[in-house]
Amino acid sequence: MVTSLNHHGLITRRLEGKVAIITGGASGIGASTARLFQQHGAKVVIADIQDELAHALCQDLGPDVTYARCDVSNEDDVRNTVDHVVATHGTLDIMFNNAGITGSVNTSIREMEKENMEKVLSINVVGAFLGAKHAARVMVPARKGSILFTSSVASLICVTPTHAYTASKHAVVGLTKSLGVELGQFGIRVNCISPYGVATPMTKKGSSMEEEFEELIARTANLKGVVVKAEDIAQAALFLASEESKYISGLNLVIDGGFSTVNPSLA
Ligand code: NAD
Repeated sequence: MVTSLNHHGLITRRLEGKVAIITGGASGIGASTARLFQQHGAKVVIADIQDELAHALCQDLGPDVTYARCDVSNEDDVRNTVDHVVATHGTLDIMFNNAGITGSVNTSIREMEKENMEKVLSINVVGAFLGAKHAARVMVPARKGSILFTSSVASLICVTPTHAYTASKHAVVGLTKSLGVELGQFGIRVNCISPYGVATPMTKKGSSMEEEFEELIARTANLKGVVVKAEDIAQAALFLASEESKYISGLNLVIDGGFSTVNPSLA
């Protein structure tokens, strides 16, 4: 691996020469990660369905970041995206399966449509599975790679009764562990990140106003006076994608300001 050191001897280009796909990379956590990976020397392909946002981001970040339209719940799209990346860059080192949707919030199971459950699972779980499947097709023969998922603090606890979302994010952790066991024999690491409280278009949609969202997070996180940003989650993705985490696999890295450890009776 080519590295650059700053004057303190620290590695500054931690993904030099690496090629990454980031699903859901047009917005929020995915967009911040695309920016950070690019700053660390990676070639990044954003796989998303929001063409305008993705094109604008690519223009902002320069030629090392490109866009491939890809609905992660569609296997042909995912297969074509991976093939396109390998044809263009010759390899695939990092697959960040980050795209996700919330589905209906606070809907009683008595009113919840089966289609809502299926839609959330098709993106959050089947989409993550497809990304990993087609990445593995390239990574196994290469005997290297890092597969990452974005799960959620909803993989540990029920934050609000979003049944499909909570179920889907628990499933992502299961997928991480199961794939970590299979792919570990080829030197491929599989990990996931579980954020809480990052203001993005997804979470803001869940509250009526941004202030309401911020107030909720400030009240519920254990760590006070710290506002988490998409950039902070990107730093965790960078660590898990880079060689600095070379012996970490099967991990669910929870980034929630201690929210999931709060004693509910004290909160
Ligand atoms: P976001 O809405 O900003 O980004 C989600 C991205 O996924 C969007 O660009 C969207 O177009 C894309 N996407 C949705 N469906 C897709 C599909 N079928 N195919 C391809 N792309 C698709 O929200 P975010 O907060 O950045 O969410 C990113 C991930 O983080 C999600 O998996 C989400 O569940 C997870 N997450 C976020 C938080 C948070 O606090 N923001 C907390 C826990 C988990």
